[in-house]
Amino acid sequence: MNSLFGAAAASARGHGMTSQRARDRLVATLRAEGIKDPRVLDVIRTMPRHLFIDEALASRAYENTALPIGLDQTISQPWVVARMTELLIERGVPKRVLELGTGSGYQAAVLSELVETVYTVERIEELLRKARRLFRTMKIENIRSRHDDGNVGWPDEAPFDAIILTAAGESVPRALCEQLADGGVLVAPLGPTGSQRLTRFRREGDAWHREDLEAVSFVPLLGGLG
Ligand code: SAH
Repeated sequence: MNSLFGAAAASARGHGMTSQRARDRLVATLRAEGIKDPRVLDVIRTMPRHLFIDEALASRAYENTALPIGLDQTISQPWVVARMTELLIERGVPKRVLELGTGSGYQAAVLSELVETVYTVERIEELLRKARRLFRTMKIENIRSRHDDGNVGWPDEAPFDAIILTAAGESVPRALCEQLADGGVLVAPLGPTGSQRLTRFRREGDAWHREDLEAVSFVPLLGGLG
């Protein structure tokens, strides 16, 4: 775990005890709402979420809620980030993870503390640029990112041990299924707006095991570039 974030850590300290106390409270809330994996809770306890959102909203960074990040997009609710991460690593920590929908970069940063390499794809260049800047400031070196339509995945780097979609579609794009390694796990919010569910697939050869889990609310998975 690289728990020293350089400039970001300094900035987090700038918020003084307030940030740490707020993060501790957030972790207590997540635990009360069913998040069990101590590895995930530990990362959330140290990750400065306030750096991933606009300063005007920073005081709300440790509420268990999604927040706007501009361009009609949101940083996911901490509970959702924690739950998806937990689902992804439950039966062994994957080495190489593909994320669709970098957004603020928070989910990728959380994953980067747990897995070997995160590959993240975002269709809106402005969001990607901001996230990349933040990864650099935080000295996170195991996230690779790409401006593209995530529906095509990242063929040059496939196969992945795990894939996570942080935008919702009706079904998993075919290219992504093909880029998941045998034995791999894919977590995605699936379904129409208003009735999406977290869904986990495990691939065993040509067999796909599907679990439909909690109800969630995500921005839509779009096609093309933003
Ligand atoms: N993981 C993000 C959540 C961002 S919201 C975080 O932690 O902040 C979902 C993101 O998915 C948005 O930024 C949106 O632009 C992006 N997105 C939607 N459709 C996409 C697609 N086809 N390819 C890549 N990114 C997509």
